[in-house]
Amino acid sequence: MTQKAHTPSSSFAKEVAEAPGGEAINKCVQCGICTASCAVASVSDKYRPRKLIQKILIGKREEVLKSEVPWLCMTCRMCEERCQEGVSPAEIFQAVRHIAAKEGHIPDAFRNTVDTLLDDGWLLKDAYSDFIEDDRDDLGLDMELGWNNDFMKKVKAKYFEGETEA
Ligand code: SF4
Ligand code: SF4
Repeated sequence: MTQKAHTPSSSFAKEVAEAPGGEAINKCVQCGICTASCAVASVSDKYRPRKLIQKILIGKREEVLKSEVPWLCMTCRMCEERCQEGVSPAEIFQAVRHIAAKEGHIPDAFRNTVDTLLDDGWLLKDAYSDFIEDDRDDLGLDMELGWNNDFMKKVKAKYFEGETEA
């Protein structure tokens, strides 16, 4: 029986291939066009999409899931546009982030962003100056921007505190 050239051999590669978005990982031929096209790779030596896919293919599960590298992808999809094999590193890394998050591996920067959102109801509280408040007043807009708090309390209760009704 002939073996397909790019069938993922590691259990981690199979796990990613079975996750939504990760299906095409077995088509990667490690050509490196994605890395050459990637804006993040152009400014950060630690981010190399081809290399990250290689680590998945050879089964470095713990290293990949505990790393912040899959979280550096900004999902611009330039790699997907240029890949000649129909692979989307952006989709693959999203699948990896889902697996990582389920196992509690979320970089602090993302965790802190979510915490701020859940606590304040929005992300730009510190940027809300007296000037903006005055402008809103002049325009007849609501100056109290805690309007999102009730909604966030419901989100928190439903998705973060295990309540079934919100
Ligand atoms: S994802 Fe596509 S562009 Fe990147 S190394 Fe694999 S085959 Fe090449
Ligand atoms: S989608 Fe991610 S991996 Fe692809 S080019 Fe953009 S930043 Fe790089």
